[in-house]
This record gives sequence, C-alpha cells and structure tokens, in this order.
Amino acid sequence: MNPIFADLPTTIFEHMSGLARELQAVNLGQGFPDFGWPQDVIETAARALVEGSNQYPPMRGIAELRRAVCDHYRVHQQLEVAVDQVIVTSGGTEALTASIMAVVKPGDEVLVFQPVYDSYLPIVRACGGVPRLASFAPPNWRITAELLDESFTERTRLVIINNPHNPVARAFGEDELRLLAAACIRHDAIALSDEVWEHIVFDRRRHAPLASLPGMAERTIKVGSAGKIFSMTGWKVGWAIAPTSLARAVGNAHQFITFTTPPNLQSGVAFGLGKDPAHFDAMRATFAEARDFFLAGIAAAGFSAMPVEGTYFVCVDLPASGIDVDDVTFCERAVREAGVAAIPISAFFEQNPVRHVLRLCFAKKRETLEAGIERLAAARRLFAG
Ligand code: PMP
Repeated sequence: MNPIFADLPTTIFEHMSGLARELQAVNLGQGFPDFGWPQDVIETAARALVEGSNQYPPMRGIAELRRAVCDHYRVHQQLEVAVDQVIVTSGGTEALTASIMAVVKPGDEVLVFQPVYDSYLPIVRACGGVPRLASFAPPNWRITAELLDESFTERTRLVIINNPHNPVARAFGEDELRLLAAACIRHDAIALSDEVWEHIVFDRRRHAPLASLPGMAERTIKVGSAGKIFSMTGWKVGWAIAPTSLARAVGNAHQFITFTTPPNLQSGVAFGLGKDPAHFDAMRATFAEARDFFLAGIAAAGFSAMPVEGTYFVCVDLPASGIDVDDVTFCERAVREAGVAAIPISAFFEQNPVRHVLRLCFAKKRETLEAGIERLAAARRLFAG
C-alpha cells in the first residue's frame, strides 16, 4: 500500500461527527449548513434529471455551465475568464487534486500555509512534490512580508492559498494579496487559489480573486465550488479556472480522475450562478445574522472569539475564554460531557500546531445554535472556575 494514503488517520471531522451522532450531541464541528439552499436550483436539476440526458456530458463540463461560470465572475468579481479556461469538476476537492496533478512534478517544492485544508498535502506528496509548510500566526492570521520572505525559496514551484480561509475565517485584504502576488511573480511560482468560500464574506467585504491582481491571471488557478455557493455540500460540483495551456493540463488530469460530473447537477448550477446578485446578498445576510446571533451567545457564555470576516466558521481562543486546557482535551470532553462537538484547530497543522483554538460552525438553524450555545456554556464550566 502507499503509506501516503494507507497511513492517513480517520479525520477529526469524521471522529467528531461520529461521536456527535453516537452521543446525540449538537454538532458544531463539521462544516455543513442546515438551512438556506435555493429550491429553484434543486428544481432545475430535478427537471434536468427527468427530462435531460443522463449520459456522459462533455469532459470539461456542459457548455451552459462553463459559460455561466464566466458570466458569474464577470458580474460578481469583474474577472474576465474565457470558456476554454474553465474545467468543471466533481467538487472543489477534485479541482484541487486535478490542479496539483497538472502542475507538480517529482521534486517540486510546494508552499502550503498552516492551518491547512486537509486535502492538499496528501495529493502534493502523491505527485512527488515536496511540501514546505509556513504558518499564519494567531490571533490575526495575517499574510506578512516576513512570512513570505522566509517561506518562498528559489525552488518554490506552486503555492497553495485558501481565501477566504477555512478554518481561520479571514478574508485576506488586498494589501496581503499584493504581497503574495509579488512573491509569486518574484519566484516565478504558480498560485493555486482555493476560493470555494468566495461568496461567504461579511460586513460589506467584496471577494478579491487572486487572479485579478496585476501579473497573476497568467499564473493563477482559481478553484470554486457550487456546494459552498449554494449551501449544498453534497452536490460536489466545482471548477478550476486556469490560463488556457494550464487548463488543458488540468482537464487532462480531470479526465482520468472522474472524467465528468453529473450533467443534471451541472444544469442546476448553471441556472443558479445566473441568479440575481440580490440572491447572493440575501444569502450573505442570512449567514451574517447566524454569525451575529452565535457570536453574541458565546460571548455571553464567556467565550472569546476571533473576528469572522468570511466562511461560516468562528475561531475561539481558549485561554482568553478562561479555559486552561488544550484544544483536543476541550473537544473530547465537550462532546462526551456537555454534548457539543467542535473541531480542535491543531487538526489543521502538521508541524508546530497551535493548540489553544477551537473551530465552531455557525451555519445552523436558530434552535441548533441556541442548544449549542447552552452546551458550550456547560462545557466551559467543566474547565473554568
Ligand atoms: N477547500 C476548502 C478550503 C474547503 O473548506 C472545502 C470544503 N470543506 C473544499 C475545498 C472542498 O469543496 P467541495 O466540497 O466542493 O469538494
């Protein structure tokens, strides 16, 4: 067996969700929303399932969806993308995998930032890439010139960045992205920009795609996910957008991972991407309301939260909340003794983990959040005086 995969432990997400199910705990761990998906997108896909083709669609995605992706980014992000730059995949996860496979050769150095989304490193390693790990530092989790100076080397071939960032809930500012772009250009590196959370940003922020920065369109692969955009994480429809020659290589990798993605879901997503911008504003407002309700509730229960600029996660600082144990200890006891599941942030590190922060998901119905807040308060009493 290949130890890269054979030796991967059960993820913390499965472990915590399993415990939450078994113990009937409130699950604020795994990041799936329990409200807010658009019925008309589901109906469009249902109609396509019954009335449309159920055979292999075109390998790079149905024309309607590839066009819709281009139109969507022109309207929402002022990003000009040509249809032949778009490869439709089975979720953001596959877009990431196909992109890494298209770029990384044995021995290539790949820069990855911790906390790191869990799919990146095994695929980089399977391609023979050599990961170089850098870390964002709490509580601000900023991209700084110093961090980039010590992380990039003359051998950096690819840098993988996630913005907005799961789990730290940052939407990186334009100043930070400019620093990153300058480093990519200086080192002639390609950027794989995981932007699956692009629509979930708060407080009037606009998502800035990395590809829109000067000099970056020709060296950036942008990854998107309909599962995130429409709050339907089970759909697994995503895409990679790359400069044309790179898009061809990404498509060639995609061809032998899944080949295609269900055509009916692609039709639903094509329809959804064309919805009025007001739909996306309303979605953000709903998540912002859940965020504000949850942040007020956990603050009243004595927890100290870090700012939430994007995504539907919040990071909680344990010592600042008067809790003097590490994140794993807190999460294990919280789920067993107080009936609430959270994710320890150390799970997102491979080296030098941060061990004093929790990740909680607030994309839940009001009653789930209320129960979660009550149980978190009980969990805090297990540790705080
Ligand atoms: N990247 C990040 C940062 C994510 O949070 C997720 C979903 N949790 C993905 C990629 C995967 O997206 P999809 O479900 O479309 O495969």
